[in-house]
Amino acid sequence: MKRALISDIHANLEALKAVLADIRNQGVSDVYCLGDVIGYGPNPCECLDEVIKLCPVTILGNHDQAALFDPDGFNPVALQAVYWTREQLEAANGTPAQINKRWDFLGELPRTHQEGDFLFVHGSAREPTNEYVFPEDVYNQRKMEALFSRVDKYCFQGHTHIPGVFTMDREFLTPEDLGGQYRLGDERVMINVGSVGQPRDNDSRACYAIIEDNTLTYRRVEYNVDTTAEKIYDIPDLDNMLGDRLRSGR
Ligand code: ZN
Repeated sequence: MKRALISDIHANLEALKAVLADIRNQGVSDVYCLGDVIGYGPNPCECLDEVIKLCPVTILGNHDQAALFDPDGFNPVALQAVYWTREQLEAANGTPAQINKRWDFLGELPRTHQEGDFLFVHGSAREPTNEYVFPEDVYNQRKMEALFSRVDKYCFQGHTHIPGVFTMDREFLTPEDLGGQYRLGDERVMINVGSVGQPRDNDSRACYAIIEDNTLTYRRVEYNVDTTAEKIYDIPDLDNMLGDRLRSGR
């Protein structure tokens, strides 16, 4: 079974479409989404529709949750984007049935999904929706031990938008370190699949991962960043910084 893992789309339709086209070329059987379909970007409804259509498993992200409930822990730029996103979901794009379908989908998203050795979360195994696991956390022995104590085997996550593999030896291996591929073995690992719609590892290309027979492959996909950035600049409620950061991949 060849499965694609996408995460942190953040309402970036150009990035999502480019990734889905790449996925189609890889002969993938299933696409799982690790959350944050919406938030920050200009096309929340369209991105939700694609994910609803395509992904048999989608995990609740903190930005997905923020559209449903009172947002907590967001900076002013992110918060303004949350409120704008909510308005789009309430008012724009589609028949009442379509609008309801999106809300129902968001309201029913699970916080975790376990399948054999594979655990899927948005943030971490400890706090599935909200906890960040950053590369520098490998220096925090207590945190790493607490996280790994909740991982039976392999934990797939997103949320930081920084792809890479956390090992039990408290190493963080970037896709470059790994030559783009990692072989899952006996060791427990936490794997960040990166971000489709707002990468933050200084590479503006959309990022996702493919898993097949215990081999993880990172993929980077070019898309028209300018188109998405221009859409953001045209929406007053979305801070221009959100477009700028797509160009720099930060
Ligand atoms: Zn995110």
